Amino acid sequence: MNTKDIAQHIVANSDGTTLDEIKSRSRMLSKSLRKIRMLERQVEQDGDTSQIQLQWVRLRRKVDIAVNKPYNWSAPVDRVESELAELPLCETPAQQEFLPGSKWGEVSETPHYLQWMHECKLQMPDGSVEDMGTFFVRLNTDRRAIGSGVAVYPHKNCYEFHSSHPHVGSGQHMCMGEAGELMSNLRRTHDWAAMYDIISATLDTFNPDSPFWRIDRMHQELQRCRRCGYDTERDDGPERDMIPDPNWDPNGPYRPRLVCSECIEHERKRAFTNALNDAQYNHNNLVTRRRYHDNA
Ligand SMILES: [Zn+2]
Repeated sequence: MNTKDIAQHIVANSDGTTLDEIKSRSRMLSKSLRKIRMLERQVEQDGDTSQIQLQWVRLRRKVDIAVNKPYNWSAPVDRVESELAELPLCETPAQQEFLPGSKWGEVSETPHYLQWMHECKLQMPDGSVEDMGTFFVRLNTDRRAIGSGVAVYPHKNCYEFHSSHPHVGSGQHMCMGEAGELMSNLRRTHDWAAMYDIISATLDTFNPDSPFWRIDRMHQELQRCRRCGYDTERDDGPERDMIPDPNWDPNGPYRPRLVCSECIEHERKRAFTNALNDAQYNHNNLVTRRRYHDNA
């Protein structure tokens, strides 16, 4: 990953102010004030206030311009780059199918993101730890990033349930909770290493006040048949065997889910019927063609 390129992008897009720029704003205002003092003397001589009032209006406009320009301090590229060098950043994974749905576009079209892999060990309030799998985390370096500017995608061995992480919404955007305001301050001062630490800590801590989904619901969902929703513990009737989903993709981002024996049997029967129909169809075709041949 080219940290120099990203550091340059960050500085170029930060709307930062230099000391020279701030001095030039002050100069602009003091020039106006000097003019106003000269006009005060004129008012004393001829009593005409129209000129001085016009100057006050101009001064107000200049103050507006000075105030509306951003006052973020612009960091030097070298400092940002050395900050980025401390982080375990990674290249975009070559395998595109690691991202479910059409989310690959979000990644390929935004090259100037800080990105890394996070092996998530979620600390629960009761002291236990949930292994949530590995996530691909991306931090938007734009100062005007919408929301937290953090996107979290399931990468390997994750639970296939909602966004796969309780603090990540269905659009893969992460909720920083109480750390949100701190994050936007750190973004302004370009403390990227501190942002990395806060994101990692937030991903590893289950906050029962602000999850997008409850982790106990996930456990419940993972017991059920992925096809029909059958639940061994809740549903009546003869108990069915639960086996790992035969259609599970070992190269995908998720760990396997379970399918009930009835769904497997149903699929097996349907596959058999389809094969039988195909054979019948091919046989009929063959007979028709032979007849045609014999008659010709
Ligand atoms: Zn089933």
